[in-house]
Amino acid sequence: MYYSLFEIFSIGIGPSSSHTVGPMKAAKRFIDNLQQQNKLTELTRLQTHLYGSLALTGIGHGTLNAIAYGFMGIDAEDIDPQINYIEQIQQSGNINVAGVKKIKFSFDKNIILEKTIYLTEHSNGMKFTAYDDKDNVLLEETYFSVGGGTIARQDEIGQRIDRKPYDVPYQFNNCAELMEICRQNKMTIAELVLQNEKAIWGRKIKIAKQILKLVSIMQENIDIGITKDGILPGGLQVKRHAKEMYERLISRFESNATDSLTAIDWINIWAFAVAEENACGGRMVTAPTMGSAGLIPAVMRYMERYSKFRNDTDKQNASITFMATASAICSLYRTNASISGAEVGCQGEIGVACSMAAGGLTAALGGNNQQIENAAEIAMEHNLGLTCDPICGLVQVPCIERNAMGAIKAVNAARLALQRTGTHIVSLDSIIKTMYETGLSLNSDYKETSLAGIAKNAINC
Ligand code: SF4
Repeated sequence: MYYSLFEIFSIGIGPSSSHTVGPMKAAKRFIDNLQQQNKLTELTRLQTHLYGSLALTGIGHGTLNAIAYGFMGIDAEDIDPQINYIEQIQQSGNINVAGVKKIKFSFDKNIILEKTIYLTEHSNGMKFTAYDDKDNVLLEETYFSVGGGTIARQDEIGQRIDRKPYDVPYQFNNCAELMEICRQNKMTIAELVLQNEKAIWGRKIKIAKQILKLVSIMQENIDIGITKDGILPGGLQVKRHAKEMYERLISRFESNATDSLTAIDWINIWAFAVAEENACGGRMVTAPTMGSAGLIPAVMRYMERYSKFRNDTDKQNASITFMATASAICSLYRTNASISGAEVGCQGEIGVACSMAAGGLTAALGGNNQQIENAAEIAMEHNLGLTCDPICGLVQVPCIERNAMGAIKAVNAARLALQRTGTHIVSLDSIIKTMYETGLSLNSDYKETSLAGIAKNAINC
């Protein structure tokens, strides 16, 4: 099924699309529903229950804060980084619901972490209940954060596969169909995506301009990230590294030291810069999730720095081709597998980001559709089985390094594909199926619970 580029690359607040962006949207939607039913004036208490992975890693991931943002009716794009909304709630003991109704609120009492309960539909479950002054239930709804910031209410969860498709000229359900449509219409994957986006948005938005806006936010995070040092929040005492890595590399240049692998150092710095910004709860673009949001910007910066573009127009066109191609690849994973670490492990986050970046880079560097498929397939093939085991539930270790490792793998996958003709034995469809089956058979402890893997063996949180 076709997913819009602007759904795949969406602006949100770090550090986790499934644990911050999704819950924030769910809480806001719950309050919107309460308001639409004209019950907001009667509201005196809001109670939230978080289940499974959201309960186990919610504090480290900033889920509780995200829910408070949602209750306040704030959209991620509108958050003012200069205002400490959470501190205001903690100090006053009140929350201004939907910006109009002030009620008592305590993170400890009004958000319950049900760490041993997993709802059957999905491991990222949350239940919201609104009460009046006599403790009558005004509204109760259960939501799931199903990956990449996408949410589904309990009655919608089975419709993930059957959700109403966009009315687009080129609908596809798998890579074989995508390739055939492109072949028949003599178009690239990026051209197909841009046609579809035009059909979805019409004149409402200028597609190219909006894509470039997303690119500029992603690139801005690199430039911000390399200027900041200090310790990342969350109590793990993880140091920010991007700035010192950047300064060390610059001083190497100044001393005229030569190193044939400098490109790798740059990619590491760029990926670290964005992933560290994400860990600090900065404004991010899901690519396709927050935990993996450093990978694609790093590969795009590599493309920009190491390719010989004649002018800015060529550079912008390459960025648009990259993003459009990457988004089509992500549609394939969302349709036939998952991009949720809680559902399929880190394969769904870093693995998918790596596959998207490999395909995007191949397209932007002039690869044909077969080479793009090959690059995306190679990238996922060597991420199969990657577990999600963030230490203390924080999107820091191993997540930040994984962005750098994934970015380098994506560049290599693109280079391998570009050196070949595009013919390959393993199709992207078969690797997506393999990734999903592998993810489903992973023990649930390895899926964003912080109960196993590095999270269990490296340090006692
Ligand atoms: S280990 Fe991977 S999937 Fe898990 S939180 Fe970190 S980046 Fe996301």
